[in-house]
Amino acid sequence: RCGYVAIVGRPNVGKSTLLNHILGQKLAITSRKPQTTRHTLLGIKTEGEVQAIYVDTPGLHKENEKALNRFMNKSASQALRDVDVVLFVVDRLRWTDEDQMVLERVQYVSCPVLIVVNKLDRMEDKNELLPHLEWLTQQLPNAEVVPVSALQGRNIDRLESLIAERL
Ligand code: GDP
Ligand code: MG
Repeated sequence: RCGYVAIVGRPNVGKSTLLNHILGQKLAITSRKPQTTRHTLLGIKTEGEVQAIYVDTPGLHKENEKALNRFMNKSASQALRDVDVVLFVVDRLRWTDEDQMVLERVQYVSCPVLIVVNKLDRMEDKNELLPHLEWLTQQLPNAEVVPVSALQGRNIDRLESLIAERL
């Protein structure tokens, strides 16, 4: 099995940390031409018969908001349709306008979505997570929630097997 995995989320939620952990090495970003390519290739991980190609989706970032507004909502959601799995990375509690912007794009996608709730290690009380998650799952009823700590590598194995099942 082989497929594209889009990693989306506002800046600072831990996307790079997560990917570094999955790939076991620092990111090698091979292309930075959002105008000409639909995806930015971030890394490839092959394990047994499973190959996951991690990509960034230009147009889902605040920096590109002007261009985004011009082409939205069709093109960014179209780019997201060219992937097999979407990882929507969020901070475990902090929700901002930028998260909301990404959420609105993710709501259009037809492929499976995994809501990756990161920075679990910063949580003092596990119950803190629940109200936020309930709300988020209502916004994305078909998405599965995976709480992780990208920094400590907690639950990343489970995330990777959920990805592999969907490729
Ligand atoms: P990105 O902008 O989404 O790529 O986020 P980064 O991966 O650059 O991470 C932003 C900041 O959050 C950095 O200071 C990371 O060390 C920190 N961070 C990322 N993942 C975790 C985590 O699981 N736990 C904690 N406590 N901090 C994290
Ligand atoms: Mg980053």
